[in-house]
Amino acid sequence: MELINSIINDYATVFSNPWFWQFPAATLGISVAAFLFFATPWTILAYIDPKWAQPYKIQQKPFQVKKYFLPNLARITINSSIMFLLIVIAWPLLKHSPIKTGDMPAWYIVVLQLAFFIFLDDFLYYWMHRYMHENKWLLKNVHSVHHRIRNTCALDGNYFNWIEFVLTGSLALVGPMLLGCHLYVLYIWIIIRQLEAADGHAGYDFKWNPMHWLPVYQGPVYHDFHHARYQGNYSGFLPYLDRFWGTYVPEYLKYRQDKKANRNDDHVNQSPKEQVKDGGISSAL
Ligand SMILES: [Zn+2]
Ligand SMILES: [Zn+2]
Repeated sequence: MELINSIINDYATVFSNPWFWQFPAATLGISVAAFLFFATPWTILAYIDPKWAQPYKIQQKPFQVKKYFLPNLARITINSSIMFLLIVIAWPLLKHSPIKTGDMPAWYIVVLQLAFFIFLDDFLYYWMHRYMHENKWLLKNVHSVHHRIRNTCALDGNYFNWIEFVLTGSLALVGPMLLGCHLYVLYIWIIIRQLEAADGHAGYDFKWNPMHWLPVYQGPVYHDFHHARYQGNYSGFLPYLDRFWGTYVPEYLKYRQDKKANRNDDHVNQSPKEQVKDGGISSAL
């Protein structure tokens, strides 16, 4: 009886509880804002698709920025609203999460925690993503929505069926919940996760993309091959998972080998195009 009363009270006071706004509501708001912040410049570039940038396009097909612009905004709005509703429903549980405020931990603790979140989230995401391709029902009814766009621009990075949006967002919270990290570390992690979501769908492979400075991450080309082929390259940040479980897109391996062989700088950008011409990518479309 006491438990039921406590749950009723949690719901009755949810919107007047500052912790609700600081923790789950702000995390959701920061997540959406960060994604739009990172995706907007890339999306404008894809919309204009200037001549100077065209040699750096990963696929040589036109972007579908205009066609998916409003559907993208609609999905982001609807999915975020559903997520908001779910965090209200889950509030009696979320309220007891180990996320904390107070003094920030030392910088190296923050770095280690963020590295842990990246590794754990990528591992979980790899298996969820792979399962969504192997389970025909999930592929047809859920994940195929994200794959409507073969030649993505950054804004397509959050174009999801609401179930996938909720699952992907929930996976990202597993690490912070396990460690009971500081609220600001959670914010930083969500911003990094959305940076990856936007960058992974950018559609261009520029050598100067600052994301190449990150160790291990291989830039937008990696996930672009996944959209082009519709299978393989399932991980988000860390390609070692696809290497270990043998789920690399074969053409992507060839692309990497060409890049490593350093045949010439232009070839880095021509390689995917060549594969499209050769039927590598296009044969799967
Ligand atoms: Zn997929
Ligand atoms: Zn994608």
